[in-house]
Amino acid sequence: MSDDETVEEYLFKIVIIGDSAVGKSNLLSRFARNEFNAHSKATIGVEFQTQSVEINGKEVKAQIWDTAGQERFRAVTSAYYRGAFGALLVYDISRRATFDNVARWLDELNSHSDTTVAKMLVGNKCDLENTREVSLDEGKSLAESEGLFFIETSALDSTNVWTAFEIVIREIYNNGKPSE
Ligand code: GDP
Repeated sequence: MSDDETVEEYLFKIVIIGDSAVGKSNLLSRFARNEFNAHSKATIGVEFQTQSVEINGKEVKAQIWDTAGQERFRAVTSAYYRGAFGALLVYDISRRATFDNVARWLDELNSHSDTTVAKMLVGNKCDLENTREVSLDEGKSLAESEGLFFIETSALDSTNVWTAFEIVIREIYNNGKPSE
């Protein structure tokens, strides 16, 4: 980039939702700090971290919010969703119950956001192939029927984590280049 080019910076909010222990905090820490914590204990309260992605030569910064344990009480507040431009809806491919609950999370997300929110269905823990309970095709077809992006990830071995966030960030950017 040449010196006289204006550097534009975009910042927007993304939320991560899904059942307890599906790996939300670790997806965020892997993306924002390249860290994984095998013994993470959820703390109560909402937290966010930021990470930048370069898109078309522009720095696009995401402020990514983690429920930090609120979902254990099924009490994610509307403030959590407010102003979000994107959402990652996470389940654990080795626990079918977390996939069965995706519909409820999607309902909650839709009741707090409009249709322009970029939504990605994420099947996390794809390193646990031996104990898989949800097939790749089940994830894909649910995403197709609900109009969501879809990806399988592993926060443990880093598979697709960057890509998952990047697709959502790129979609938000292309949808209208938000300035907040
Ligand atoms: P959260 O409650 O959804 O935020 O889930 P955490 O990020 O706290 O993770 C819950 C548990 O799953 C922790 O013991 C993590 O170490 C583990 N975990 C998270 N992501 C992965 C993954 O991709 N693969 C495997 N095998 N374990 C994971």
